[in-house]
Amino acid sequence: MSKMITLALSKGRIFDETLPMLAKAGITVSEDPETSRKLILPTSSPNLRVIIVRASDVPTYVQYGAADLGVAGYDVLAEHGMDGLYAPIDLGIAKCRMSVAVREGFDYANAVRQGARLRVVTKYVEQAREHFANKGVHVDLIKLYGSMELGPLVGLADAIVDLVSTGNTLKANQLKEVEVISQISSRLVVNQAAYKRRRADLQPLLDAFSKV
Ligand code: AMP
Repeated sequence: MSKMITLALSKGRIFDETLPMLAKAGITVSEDPETSRKLILPTSSPNLRVIIVRASDVPTYVQYGAADLGVAGYDVLAEHGMDGLYAPIDLGIAKCRMSVAVREGFDYANAVRQGARLRVVTKYVEQAREHFANKGVHVDLIKLYGSMELGPLVGLADAIVDLVSTGNTLKANQLKEVEVISQISSRLVVNQAAYKRRRADLQPLLDAFSKV
């Protein structure tokens, strides 16, 4: 290996679950992003550094080659699109599902059957649009950046499209899951040009990630 390799990760679940995979390649990250304010973290390998970015920004850094590779949820990748990206490995981490949920008292199936026009709040506008278009359900999509669960409770929307893991957040807000849109897990994404030109440099890391 010669030139520096840059790996883009987000704080929290993805960072925590990526560490054991790096350990398989004998690599440790020298600082904890939860306590360090640094955005560029060196590792035990002189040729690898980790940059800490927002989860939804990981594909952007990799697409433009500012990072050679990164780890991003399928939810984020589907929303961003795969331009300039190659996603060779499903890491099977940060698993959850993307679902439609409504207030406990709301008869979703009936509203759909009646051809009602539904207002839906979500951070995942592209995936929601595709889902409802495939089902032939008419929706007005309203983009939110967080706390989607609040939408139906205060009359902003009839339904939400959000990630669900245990279902506890929905339950705590008197919402029920009515449709699963997709199963989500995190993927390794590689800059397409780097994948072609720097394959030999990247291969040890790709091997470590594929062992999961
Ligand atoms: P839960 O209460 O376990 O169903 O978790 C739902 C909350 O956690 C929602 O606010 C989700 O947006 C968030 N969440 C669950 N799983 C994930 C994941 N794999 N990645 C990012 N956010 C998640």
